[in-house]
Amino acid sequence: MTIDPPKYKAWRRQMVEQLRQRGISDQRLLDAMQKLPRQWFCPDTLLDNLLYDIDCAIKIDCDQTISKPYTVAWQTQLLELQPTMSVLEVGTGSGYQTAVLCEMGARVYTVERQSILFRKTKALLASLRYTARCYLGDCFNGLPEMKGFKYDRILVTCGAPSLPHGLMQMLKTGGIMVIPIGPEGGQKMYRIHKEGDSPDLWRKEVFGDAYFVPMLEGKAFNKPYSL
Ligand code: SAH
Repeated sequence: MTIDPPKYKAWRRQMVEQLRQRGISDQRLLDAMQKLPRQWFCPDTLLDNLLYDIDCAIKIDCDQTISKPYTVAWQTQLLELQPTMSVLEVGTGSGYQTAVLCEMGARVYTVERQSILFRKTKALLASLRYTARCYLGDCFNGLPEMKGFKYDRILVTCGAPSLPHGLMQMLKTGGIMVIPIGPEGGQKMYRIHKEGDSPDLWRKEVFGDAYFVPMLEGKAFNKPYSL
């Protein structure tokens, strides 16, 4: 349901103010989050006072989650995105993060391994007139149909057990990947600057603790990961 009552706009203003107080300063990002109705990407059953709580992650289909607004803002700010850059997002989920990237002027390519989420979110993004390209599959090492294309930025919105080298090969030299890495319960947020093809030229910065659903490697992408 794509309605946006005035009280939601007021809640978004508060959300943006709280994000600013927590250190989010990228104005184009704050503008995008001010503009974008998060309720369009959330289950209808959700209590609406939780929608704009910056620390509230929300359950969606297939036992997955939409990251909390603070995490969306934190990861996106770390990307140092400029308009028209190409961005590969791993983990389409609800499409909220995808839409934030589109609102910031990026050319977005997004991959989801759960077919239910892929179909639903692809249709939602198209109905909202976002031109993000949606792919179904396991993007642990990139998808065959994407081989040969390199991205300015890669944003991983699920927790990887280790840095996926196949995905690093899809990043342009000079590009940035933002990715949570580590075992469930012990992930850290990493920003990797690719300064050349060889892994010793991948400069890593580590930020704080991160809490993401796992990035899964494997082909059984029609089933929830818990099955
Ligand atoms: N960006 C999303 C967050 C979704 S949670 C949002 O804003 O809603 C992370 C998503 O990553 C889940 O939907 C999960 O199915 C997906 N995922 C996990 N491993 C993956 C993989 N190897 N390839 C593609 N998607 C994956």
